Amino acid sequence: MTSDFTPYQVDKATYKRFDQKMICFSRWRWDEDFIAYGKGIYDNAPAKIAQGLEGYSKEEFVAIEAAWHVHDTFARIRALSAGELERDSFPNKIGDVSGYTPESNSAQVKKFAEGLGSPIVGTTRVNPNWIYASDVRGNALNLENLPYAVVFAVPMDQAKLKRSPSYVASAAVGVAYSRCRFIGESLAEFIKRLGYSALPAVNETAISVPLAIDAGLGEFARNGLLIGEKYGMAVRIGKVLTDMPLAQDTPVNLGVRRFCTKCKKCAENCPANAISFENQPDGKTLTKSNNPGILKWYVNVDRCYSFWTHNSSDCSNCVTSCPFTKPDNWLHKTTRSVIKRTGAFDRLLVRMDDWLYG
Ligand code: SF4
Ligand code: SF4
Repeated sequence: MTSDFTPYQVDKATYKRFDQKMICFSRWRWDEDFIAYGKGIYDNAPAKIAQGLEGYSKEEFVAIEAAWHVHDTFARIRALSAGELERDSFPNKIGDVSGYTPESNSAQVKKFAEGLGSPIVGTTRVNPNWIYASDVRGNALNLENLPYAVVFAVPMDQAKLKRSPSYVASAAVGVAYSRCRFIGESLAEFIKRLGYSALPAVNETAISVPLAIDAGLGEFARNGLLIGEKYGMAVRIGKVLTDMPLAQDTPVNLGVRRFCTKCKKCAENCPANAISFENQPDGKTLTKSNNPGILKWYVNVDRCYSFWTHNSSDCSNCVTSCPFTKPDNWLHKTTRSVIKRTGAFDRLLVRMDDWLYG
């Protein structure tokens, strides 16, 4: 960890809180200018299944829907209770909590989240920039009364993910999202029963990647996702916003941003040509689903989503092709440790990754 590390650069004159309605998963329903207007991700499944390709069977498709079930059910419940946060507050039934400190609170929530199955947990003050200005239905989100966040990551099954973009990989993604729901909902309940307010979320409510960076879970990558120390990009992120005072974790410098300038494997392996090949992050937006004002590589998410509709499920090619997404064994621990300390071997390590993993 370094205290003087700046994990991202925001142009304050340009950046505005984003409307969740502008993301592809919402635009396909209402935006007639969108390349995939009217096309749901799974609409093409019957035609795809009929092709009889490996990894695209009827049963493998059903497994995706089943894997997402817990996530989707709670997402619907959360959407219905939008704006009714006060109902989430429990009276404190356990007596005086005035002896709790932000540090002891953080330690408690981390321990509980780890017990629920998240090996990576951080806490942070919420930067209001990362809260969506409004939700997918257009309801304004005013969450100043929840100024802290617990952010956690759930690892995905890397062997299954490797079969991207088939249904097998998509089911592994769904499992991780459902586990995020389970952990988030249970963790929020834990916090509420200690006498505070808490709002769990997965992809809704706030933008997960910068929150996770603030909470010390990793760095942003060329393809816009989070790269963490232990699992690379093979994680999904959940969070709980709360008024429980929490300690501020420190953003980590893993050498990712520097390494990404030498490596373009995610871009080379993207079937939609959606990821930038620019050496340095240029901050240039490409679609109206990109929110301007951050110095990063913006991804053409319209192309990405459009590929998903043809594929009739999601895709993890960029995740699995990344040299950071590897099993947590001694070889990869050593490699990550080298990358963290020096950029001298970045190009060589990209080549080695090519030789070993293609
Ligand atoms: S998910 Fe697939 S299509 Fe989308 S950016 Fe990653 S590699 Fe490209
Ligand atoms: S594949 Fe390479 S360029 Fe892409 S995110 Fe991973 S390290 Fe960065």
